[in-house]
Amino acid sequence: MKRKKSKSDLKNAEVQAQILRGQAELLVSKDAPSLSKDLSPETSQDLLQELHIHQIELELQNEELLQQKAELTKEKERYFDLYELAPVGYFTLTDEGKILQANLTSTILLGTPKSALLHHLISNFILHEDQDICYHNRKKLLSTHLPQTCELRMVKSDGSQFWAQLDSSIAKNGKGGMDLRIVLHDITQRKKGESDLSVAAIAFESQNGIIVTDTKGIILRTNQAFSRITGFNSEDTIGKPITILKSGRHNKQFYERMWSTLNAQGRWQGEIWNRRKNGEIYAELLTITAVQNEGLGVTHYVGNFSDITEDKESEAAIHRLAYYDALTSLPNRRLLQDRITQAISSSARSGEYGALLFVDVDHFKILNDTRGHSVGDLLLMDVAQRLRANVRQSDTVGRQGGDEFVILLDNLSCEMNEAATMAQQLGEKLRETMEKPFNLNGLEYHCKISVGISLLTKDDTIEDLLRQADLALYKAKDAGRNTLRFFDPEMQKELEFRIALESELNLAISEKQFRLYYQPQVDSKGNVKSVEALIRWSHPRRGIVAPDDFIHLAEETGLILTIGKWVMETACSQLKQWETHPHTSALKIAVNVSAKEFRQSDYVAQVERIIKASGINPMLLKLELTESIVIENMEDTIEKMNALKQFGITFSMDDFGTGFSSLAYLAQLPLTQLKIDKSFVDNIPGTKNNEMITRTIITMGHGLEMHVIAEGVETQAQREFLKANGCTAYQGYLYSRPLPITELEEFLKRTSLLPA
Ligand code: C2E
Ligand code: CA
Ligand code: CA
Repeated sequence: MKRKKSKSDLKNAEVQAQILRGQAELLVSKDAPSLSKDLSPETSQDLLQELHIHQIELELQNEELLQQKAELTKEKERYFDLYELAPVGYFTLTDEGKILQANLTSTILLGTPKSALLHHLISNFILHEDQDICYHNRKKLLSTHLPQTCELRMVKSDGSQFWAQLDSSIAKNGKGGMDLRIVLHDITQRKKGESDLSVAAIAFESQNGIIVTDTKGIILRTNQAFSRITGFNSEDTIGKPITILKSGRHNKQFYERMWSTLNAQGRWQGEIWNRRKNGEIYAELLTITAVQNEGLGVTHYVGNFSDITEDKESEAAIHRLAYYDALTSLPNRRLLQDRITQAISSSARSGEYGALLFVDVDHFKILNDTRGHSVGDLLLMDVAQRLRANVRQSDTVGRQGGDEFVILLDNLSCEMNEAATMAQQLGEKLRETMEKPFNLNGLEYHCKISVGISLLTKDDTIEDLLRQADLALYKAKDAGRNTLRFFDPEMQKELEFRIALESELNLAISEKQFRLYYQPQVDSKGNVKSVEALIRWSHPRRGIVAPDDFIHLAEETGLILTIGKWVMETACSQLKQWETHPHTSALKIAVNVSAKEFRQSDYVAQVERIIKASGINPMLLKLELTESIVIENMEDTIEKMNALKQFGITFSMDDFGTGFSSLAYLAQLPLTQLKIDKSFVDNIPGTKNNEMITRTIITMGHGLEMHVIAEGVETQAQREFLKANGCTAYQGYLYSRPLPITELEEFLKRTSLLPA
C-alpha cells in the first residue's frame, strides 16, 4: 500500500514542480522565433511559451505517472504475497461478525471460495458447540478494545473440522465505525499433540501399576497405582534397583527365562510373585516392554502390572476343591492320577522305579457304623496325618476315597530289588506308626492297616498300576489284614485272567454258558422248604466257574443286568415246571439281587413282566437283598420292596450282620426273613463273640416278626446251637452243596432221610 504523503513529501513535490517549470521555460525560450505571427508578438510569444511549458510539464508528469504505476504494480504484488498468501488466515469483520475481507489462505483453510465467505457471518464456519466461545470473544473485544485470543473448532465446507486459534483486534474503518481484524491459525497439529500427551498422562495414571526403569533395572518412574499396590511411594523406589520388589519365590531360572524372552521378543508377560513394602507377598500379572530407540537400541523398560492376588486366591480355592480331599486335605483321586502319570514319565526319563502303595484301614466300616461318621472322620484325618508324617516331602499321599489311601513314591532306585525293599520298608513303617492308639474324641482306638504295593516303571499305564496295587491290597486283606502284600507275577497272571475273563463274560450269555444251581434251605424238621438259586458259569475251557470269580466283574461292567435278568427268568421257569409236581409245587426259590440291578429305575416293572410271562405264583419267589442295597438309598429301596411285595414276592436280608444292621432301618423294611451270615455261623459254638451275635440276630429277627435262617451250616454242632437259640431254618453243606437241577431233584426225593 502506498503511504500517505507527509508534509516533507509535499515540499519535495513543490520543489520538483518548480524544477520542471524551469526546465520547460528554458526549452521554450530557445524555440521562440518560430512561433505565430498573427498575435502581437509579445502575446503570442507568451502564449506559445506558456503552452510549451504546459506540454512539457505534462510529458514530464506522464513519465512520473508511468513510473509511479510501475511501482504500484510492484507494491500490489508484494501486497498479494504478504496478505493473500500469508501463512495465516486474515479476516476483516464488521462488529457484528460479517466477513468483509478474507485472504486467500483463509479460503484454503476453510475450504471455501471467497465468494462464499464474503458477506457471511463468521459463525457459519464455527462448530456449533464452539460458537459461544467466538461470541464471548467478540463481545470482550468490543467492550475492551484489547486484542483477544481464543481456540475453537471451525468447519470446512466439506464438513470436516479443524482446530483454529483466532487472534482478534479492533480498528476504525474510516466510515466512523469499527472493524474487527482476525488472524486465524490452524492449530490442529498442536491440539493433537496436546491430547496425545494427556492420553499418555492418563494412561500412566491408570489402574495398573507402571514402573519405568533404565536398562540396568534402576527405577526411574512409578505411578500412583504402583504405590497403591506395592505400598512403596516414589521416594522409596526412584533410583533403587528393581530387585527391591523381589519376593524370593522364583528361582534364578525363572528370571533368566524372563530376560531371554524380553531380549529376544522385546516383551515378556507372565505371573510373578513380588513383595510389598510391608513384606506381604502378592501376585501380579506383569507385562514388560523394552523401549527401543532408533539407533540407540533399548533405552528403557516399562513394566505394567495388575494385582491378581485375589484371583490367585480364588483360583487356589477352586484348585483345592477340585484336587484335594475336603476331609483330610490330601490330594484326591484326580490329582493322584495326574501325579501317577507324571511319575510314570519321570520314571521313563530317569530309569528309576517308583512305587504305588494302597493303604486300607482295617474294619473301618465297623467303626463308622457303630460310632458314627464323625468318629470315622476323625480316624481318617488322624490316619492321613500319620501317613503324611512318615513319607518324604516329594512323595504324594492321597485319599482315593472312603478308607483307602494311596502313597506314590517317586524315583526310588534303578535297581528293582532295591526299590521294592524301600517301598516295603516304608509300608512296614506305616503299619508300625498306626500301632500307637488313636484318640478319637476320648475314645481310644486301635487301628490296623493293610497295604498293597505295586512297583512303578516306565512301561506301566495308570490303569495297570491302580489295578495291580488294588489287587495286592486285596491279597493283603485276604491274608487276614494288618499285613502288606506286593503285587507279584502270580498276581499279574490273575490280572490277565480277569482281563480275559471280562471279554469272555461278554459272550457267556449269547453262548448260553450260565447254569443255575440250587442249594436247599431246610426247616428244623428237615424238610426242604425252599432253594437258593446260585449261578455258575460253565466255561468251555475253565469248567465250572464260581460266582465269586465273575459276579464282581459283571457288576463293574454292567453285565450283571443281563445276567440278573437271565437268572430271574430261569428261576421263574423252574418254578413253573415244579408247579405241577406235588412234592415241588410249594417249593420256593430265593434269587440273589445285586445292587446295580435293584437300582434300575424300571426294576419293578422288569420283575413284573417276567412273573407275568412265566405265569408263576409270585408268592414262591423270594428276593435276597444285601444291606448295601438298603444303605445306598433307603427311600427308593422301601418303595420298590413295597411295590414288589404287592405282587406277593417276599424278601430275605442276605449276609445279615456284616453291614450296618441298624434296627431303626430294619424295622421299616418289608422283610420276611433275616439270613445270618456264614461268617458268624463259622465259629459257633465256641467263639463267644459269634455266639453272641448269632443269638442277638435271632432275637432281633423274632422281635421284628421275621423268620431267621442261617447260611453256611456245615456241622451238626452248628445246627444244634442255632436250633437251641431259636433259629429254625438252615442252609449249608451239612445238607447239601448247591446242585444242578437234576441232582437237586434227586436230592429232594431223598429229603426224608435228612437229619431232623
Ligand atoms: P451268597 O448269596 O451268600 O450265597 C451263599 C454262598 O455260600 C454260595 O456261594 C454257596 O455255595 C456258599 N455256601 C452255602 N453253604 C455253604 C457251606 O456250608 N459252606 C461253605 N463254605 N459255603 C457255603 P456261591 O454259590 O459261590 O455264591 C457266592 C456268592 O455269589 C453268593 O453269596 C452271591 O452273593 C453271589 N451270587 C451267586 N449267584 C448269584 C446270582 O444269581 N445273582 C447275584 N447277583 N449274585 C449271585
Ligand atoms: Ca444269597
Ligand atoms: Ca450270604
